[in-house]
Amino acid sequence: MNIILLGPPGAGKGTQAKRMIEKYGIPQISTGDMLRAAVQAGTELGLEAKKYMDAGQLVPDEVVIGLVKERIQQDDCKNGYMLDGFPRNVSQAETLDKMLSELGQKIDHVVCIEVPEDELIKRLTGRRTCKQCGAGYHVVFDPPKQDGVCDKCGGELYQRDDDNEETVKSRLKVYKEQTEPLIAYYEKQGKLRRIDGVGSIDEIFNRIVAVLG
Ligand SMILES: [Zn+2]
Repeated sequence: MNIILLGPPGAGKGTQAKRMIEKYGIPQISTGDMLRAAVQAGTELGLEAKKYMDAGQLVPDEVVIGLVKERIQQDDCKNGYMLDGFPRNVSQAETLDKMLSELGQKIDHVVCIEVPEDELIKRLTGRRTCKQCGAGYHVVFDPPKQDGVCDKCGGELYQRDDDNEETVKSRLKVYKEQTEPLIAYYEKQGKLRRIDGVGSIDEIFNRIVAVLG
């Protein structure tokens, strides 16, 4: 089963991804991890990617797609795989489809975890991080025993710049602009599986399983 996982920041994508790869026995292929691994392994494409990364530039689509192609032909992908963070736009999605059809493969499901924007803002802006040990908390969903103090080490909790309301809103806007055309692309192909991302981790996971089988 070949899956693409989509969802805005704060939708709980990481948590569900973990459950899905366990249940379906497929690896999660995240572009960032894949790039780092290829660079470290010193493969031809990895070295090519490194040139751009070292220069602080985006790695071009053809290099990324080449890496995805190598990655999905590895042994652990024989039952399928879950792509995370790729494709990011319609042009990448088209290139991916073309590459997969050359391999005699296709994407089966595009799982899109959906959460209303006000709920995402509540989730993301409530995050607090320990200055000392990096432990994560949430003022509503996972509060520390004492306000502003880490349960584990007594360190001071703070709100990362990434989690302030203005930054959160702009991250969500960017996500929406990038992803909406992609969602339309896969909807047209009949592959989009919209999952209601509000509820407990189990509830959401059960919805995914109900759709994927
Ligand atoms: Zn701490």
